[in-house]
Amino acid sequence: MKITVSVIKADVGGIGGHTKPSDGLIEAVRHTVKSSGDLLLDYYIGYCGDDVHIVMSHTKGTDDEEIHKLAWDAFEAGTQVAKEEGLYGAGQDLLKDSFSGNVKGMGPGVAELEFEERPNEAFTVFAADKTEPGAFNYPMYRLFVDALSNTGLIVNKSLAKGVDFHVMDVEDGTIAKLSLWEDKPTLEAALMYPSRYVISSINTKDGEPILSASTDRLHNIAGTYVGKDDPVCLIRTQKLFPATEEAGSVFNNPHYVAGNTRGSHNMPLMPVKLNSAATINFCIPIVESLVFSMHNGKFTGPFDGFSTADWDYVREIATKKALAIRSQGFIHPATLVPDELEYADGYNDRMNILKSKMKPMDSKTVTNDRKENYEDPD
Ligand SMILES: [Mg+2]
Repeated sequence: MKITVSVIKADVGGIGGHTKPSDGLIEAVRHTVKSSGDLLLDYYIGYCGDDVHIVMSHTKGTDDEEIHKLAWDAFEAGTQVAKEEGLYGAGQDLLKDSFSGNVKGMGPGVAELEFEERPNEAFTVFAADKTEPGAFNYPMYRLFVDALSNTGLIVNKSLAKGVDFHVMDVEDGTIAKLSLWEDKPTLEAALMYPSRYVISSINTKDGEPILSASTDRLHNIAGTYVGKDDPVCLIRTQKLFPATEEAGSVFNNPHYVAGNTRGSHNMPLMPVKLNSAATINFCIPIVESLVFSMHNGKFTGPFDGFSTADWDYVREIATKKALAIRSQGFIHPATLVPDELEYADGYNDRMNILKSKMKPMDSKTVTNDRKENYEDPD
């Protein structure tokens, strides 16, 4: 049976800041999805920081208007509650007044895969907050390219053949297909700058879909920056694909990603338990792991992939790396480059004042100043 798994997420409000949705908000989203009759085979609703994700199975295919409208309506219902409760950023990811066919380009993030369901279908959703889609560049490189991180690339026949990456240029929306192993150095050059080039999907050489990630950048959609585009990524695991534990383990070295407080800093990506709030310790970027089994479109799970004891140690590493980079305050690379700052207006105000004080350097003036300062009055 051909099944589609759609993960659609949005931030429509947080308690006292960009922390987590309220119970009322989640309940409003759930009520809307639950009322969809027989449109869905199954669904799961949860959150990562202030982002609510809806995981749905159905037979409508990807980019289906009914499925996208259901998610849009659910987030609108959540927004209504967020406004009633005075939550911060109520409706912030719903950038349009009304739904028009597909949520892509309207604010919510989407990761979808359609495939022939295997007898023991296994997939994992990685949901992140306080960062950007390029946050998945490093872990997915480790998973599909780096045999030192993933022995499956040697011992699994399908993975050893290499996979096809589809990499998006988020500035102009174009996508390049890069095939392993012949395009390896070009892929590496692209993944080097996660703010510009991001992985949008991965499939086997035979065209079997493995991974889909949300790739919309909100500041491109809206024209002005309206918030970090916290990503989700859906990945099928086991058999021809990476083992679930291979997919999880590539998050065990918390790498620095853009985002966090005011969307303007670099901090490490910390694996956390399901339905975690964003930390008010300067908003360390977080990622959750939702591990599912599926049969006839019915979910079992999610198992909380980052809940076991070993991940406490990884969280400690992430916390130490976070404190280390915060120790240098506003000095880049603790902060992002100007083009990537979420609060660029304030920065530009400062720079305009700085520029107004800038004068051409005149060698004569400098010489005279030096004389005034340093010559002995006698
Ligand atoms: Mg968020």
